[in-house]
Amino acid sequence: MISVEEALRRILERAPRLPAETVGLGAARGRVLREDVFADRDLPPFHRSAVDGYAVRAACLAGGGRLRVVDQIPAGTMPKVRLGPGEAAAIMTGAPLPEGADAAIMVEDTVRDGDFVVWPAPGRTPPAVEPGNRVTARGAEVLRGAKLLEAGVRVSPAAVGLLATVGKVRVEVARRPRIAVFSTGDELRHPRTARPRPAEIRDANSHLIAARCRALGLPVRRLGFAADDPDHLAATVASGLVADVLFISGGVSMGRYDYVEPVLERAGVRLLVTAVAIRPGKPFVFGITGDAPPVLVFGLPGNPVSALTTFEVFARPALDAMQGVADARPPRPSVRLLAPVRGSGPRRAFLPARVGVAEDGTLTARPIRSQGSGDIAAVALANALVIVPEDTEAIPAGASVEAQPLPGFPDAGAGWHDPRR
Ligand code: AMP
Ligand code: MG
Repeated sequence: MISVEEALRRILERAPRLPAETVGLGAARGRVLREDVFADRDLPPFHRSAVDGYAVRAACLAGGGRLRVVDQIPAGTMPKVRLGPGEAAAIMTGAPLPEGADAAIMVEDTVRDGDFVVWPAPGRTPPAVEPGNRVTARGAEVLRGAKLLEAGVRVSPAAVGLLATVGKVRVEVARRPRIAVFSTGDELRHPRTARPRPAEIRDANSHLIAARCRALGLPVRRLGFAADDPDHLAATVASGLVADVLFISGGVSMGRYDYVEPVLERAGVRLLVTAVAIRPGKPFVFGITGDAPPVLVFGLPGNPVSALTTFEVFARPALDAMQGVADARPPRPSVRLLAPVRGSGPRRAFLPARVGVAEDGTLTARPIRSQGSGDIAAVALANALVIVPEDTEAIPAGASVEAQPLPGFPDAGAGWHDPRR
């Protein structure tokens, strides 16, 4: 048995970095950037009015004023007239300030009187107008040439908007690992089976893993399930090895019909992890083919909670590493226990829990009552796995522990920094 850390180290060491490819803006969300992105112009590119109103010289409005309106500037149009003393220009939100102006005032604070504008409007007492009032200066948000996004970050919807802003309509991202997944077990039936026989169960794992990979934006081929039969298993493994990553669930325990390990070895897969000090998930196996780059093969235990746990702990970081994510090791935020938890001897335990944000901003974890590694109903309620370290008898309520985030975990923003600084 090796430790969780040692298993993860062996996996990340072998995860090949996939090549980059170019995608258009519409396909960039969720992809991992493989190039830095810079500003191609100042943002805003001109002194920009933040309001609909009038461009003015602040000095002309000391104690109120009446200004001649000499121009009208819609967004998208460069002003033609330079403002002189005692003059104003009607201006729209997002339009460039004319030369000679240093501030803008809101139309709501004014009244129009023919060719003139009067500030403040009777009955209104807006604050004094200072230079820069209601104007965003050229370059105040971003200077041309500034680094806006870094290679290794995942593109969010807002980042797509940023790429559009700087005209980056083609962007280098990592090729996504192609996933194949199947389950093994003579007892398994397709979920659509209306009335499984008493000893049969519906296949949860190939659907669970496929759904998780799709949520990570990865293309998935489900290969259904294989019988507990070495030849059938070998044929299914062969069809899965055309992917970049193959997930197999079941058949890795010590049972009479657990054929996955010998079948993988016969298919040329070198097993680098065969038993890990983790609970649930001890039978987990990992191996690589002899290809360059190798296909990664994850043999997940058949119990659904074990399959989910070992996927999150071992496979998810590998999928990120293959795409060049800056730090592929998952963040381990601290959470405060709302109830005590028990350890699992020499094995590191991962317990389903519901993490929320307390009023003081700290994360709290409520362990979910579970019957163990078969209890998919319990883990389906979880948004985290609380980690109980090796050789820990119990941890009391109120203590802080580390957690492995699952989908739905409150975003802790771990590892974030501003590339512009
Ligand atoms: P195994 O790892 O093959 O020994 O299976 C361990 C347990 O998980 C057994 O109770 C299996 O019936 C169950 N199991 C195996 N594969 C699946 C699956 N795809 N979906 C749900 N349960 C499974
Ligand atoms: Mg089995």
